[in-house]
Amino acid sequence: MPDRPDERPSEPPAQPEQHHRLVSDQDVEDADDTLFAHPPRVVRRWVCGCGADYPCTDVRFALLVKSTAEAGE
Ligand SMILES: [Zn+2]
Repeated sequence: MPDRPDERPSEPPAQPEQHHRLVSDQDVEDADDTLFAHPPRVVRRWVCGCGADYPCTDVRFALLVKSTAEAGE
């Protein structure tokens, strides 16, 4: 960690016209990047008929039995 707690060396000196702005143009650009990279997503959730998340352990076992039986044919 740098021992300059009050300095922010990564930011250029504020321009005069930006003196009273709460956020800089760079902040807005970063915000745009963040919003672009983090769009909301709808997640479809599968729920088994027995109430557990699909596939539940019973379904997993049944699928394993089926795939094993098919592999043996
Ligand atoms: Zn189930």
